[in-house]
Amino acid sequence: MTFVTDPLSGHAEASETAVAPDVDDVDVVIVGAGFSGLGVAALLDKAGIRSFRILEAADDLGGTWRDNTYPGCGCDIPSPLYSYSFDQKSDWSRLFAGQPEILDYLRDVARRRGLIDHIRFGQRVSHARWTEADSRWEVTSSHGDRYRARFLISAVGPLHHPAYPDVPGIDTFDGPVFHSADWRHDVDLTGKRVAVVGTGASAIQFVPAIVDQVSALTVFQRTPPWIVPKADRPFDSRHRRLARWVPPYRWWVRERLFWIHENRAAGFVSDPGAMAQTGALARTLIERQVSDPRLRATVTPNYAIGCKRLLISSDWYPALSRPHVDVRPGGVAEARPGAVVGDDGVEVEADVVVYGTGFDAQNTIRMDITGRDGLTLAEAWAEGNQAYLGTSVAGFPNMFLMIGPNTGLGHNSQIFMIEAQARYVVDILRRLRRRGADSVEVRPEVQRDFNDWLAGRMVDTVWQSGGCRSWYQDPRSGRNTVLWPDTTIAFWRLTRRARLSDYHLRSR
Ligand SMILES: Cc1cc2nc3c(=O)[nH]c(=O)nc-3n(C[C@H](O)[C@H](O)[C@H](O)COP(=O)(O)OP(=O)(O)OC[C@H]3O[C@@H](n4cnc5c(N)ncnc54)[C@H](O)[C@@H]3O)c2cc1C
Repeated sequence: MTFVTDPLSGHAEASETAVAPDVDDVDVVIVGAGFSGLGVAALLDKAGIRSFRILEAADDLGGTWRDNTYPGCGCDIPSPLYSYSFDQKSDWSRLFAGQPEILDYLRDVARRRGLIDHIRFGQRVSHARWTEADSRWEVTSSHGDRYRARFLISAVGPLHHPAYPDVPGIDTFDGPVFHSADWRHDVDLTGKRVAVVGTGASAIQFVPAIVDQVSALTVFQRTPPWIVPKADRPFDSRHRRLARWVPPYRWWVRERLFWIHENRAAGFVSDPGAMAQTGALARTLIERQVSDPRLRATVTPNYAIGCKRLLISSDWYPALSRPHVDVRPGGVAEARPGAVVGDDGVEVEADVVVYGTGFDAQNTIRMDITGRDGLTLAEAWAEGNQAYLGTSVAGFPNMFLMIGPNTGLGHNSQIFMIEAQARYVVDILRRLRRRGADSVEVRPEVQRDFNDWLAGRMVDTVWQSGGCRSWYQDPRSGRNTVLWPDTTIAFWRLTRRARLSDYHLRSR
């Protein structure tokens, strides 16, 4: 028997379990070093909980902003808002920062806060198993490296696994084929005939960025997106000086942007009439930027605005209007050597195929997680992903999810939600310490009631009633398991202080 001082409880406790020397034993294992993993790590550190490890599958941090390096990649929420409140950056170069600048920001936060020393790179977590006897998670990477922790925080990202369409014959296509999230920078597109599959948030960024380079561009569009103008602009030196030296000014900019976005929630969730102005803006954009009536008809959606992700761009329609660009309604039915064939049977010659087909937002946690009594997360979610506040799952003690089910956003910055969740988790950990409890698990009835409430809220949202199908919905049930159906302030209120009566607390 060994005596160790438990950093969370502060007490010396006896450990019966002989820990193998090759097992890294910490209080908290965080899986993923993107905005979520780094955010929760930063707040743990601030709370004095320093025994944590961040396991990251890749060789670098950054998540979304490490992987998506396609031309034109950037945020579509203004950068002063797309950053942690506790680490605001005063010198963003422009209103909507590009991918390199956001990645630099995250690297800088991790470096300044000493988080890099906590990260183990190249550690793709494959298994995590709860052991009731000693209230620990046993975590294993795909290389067989082992970790033990009291708490497991999954921060694996909502949009991490690229979605690939099933294109028969794609193996016979003799040119490069790649996804926007895995951009082939070694492929020179100059003078090439490029077929782009998909017209989602990534495609509307990279198509305008490559259109001048290629000789022909065919865009296969299943469903046109609704798009509003992007009011991007560089920040001048006066703004940057003020943001740097006058913190109230920086907060004021952030807050103003926050409320502009927050006020949009009603249009998605409860008051379709509130979308009228946005709809008019989107229609005017098409009228102003697309003069060809055939193209206008092709790019005008036939579902309610907001039903699918609302996009922002001022250069998408001008790109599609170029003479060497062809927008073909429908998807790709098959590929042949040197060509792709649309759903309409028309063959289009191409040298390169680029998928702008987005991500699998349903099957995001690709780890085998086994909770109490041998229950696996796959079993618990057999009928669809669900959690309490998108964070805790009944049957899985001491486990927390970042951007779990129904915490995604269509109207405001995801970083606000990440921070709310991270504070909530840290609050629970600190209060467990005070109470001397070893494990915490959400009560099943609390989770059920919460999900009943979610289902009720969802009915009248534009996402469910707007006449479209989207990646927000579980294809099995049609249920929206991705988005938060309320304001971000409402989520903040619910997570500001954890209600411990929602949980079973256990002591050994
Ligand atoms: C192109 C693009 C643009 C976006 N723009 C915006 C925007 O403007 N505004 C906005 O609010 N949101 C935006 N988003 C959403 C964005 O994903 C989130 O805002 C945020 O970056 C998510 O951070 P995360 O840390 O939760 O996930 P990620 O950034 O995806 O990070 C997850 C990390 O976990 C790692 N990981 C995954 N599985 C494992 C495993 N089994 N073991 C170990 N490590 C693992 C991954 O390698 C990755 O590093 C955008 C998304 C994309 C794809």
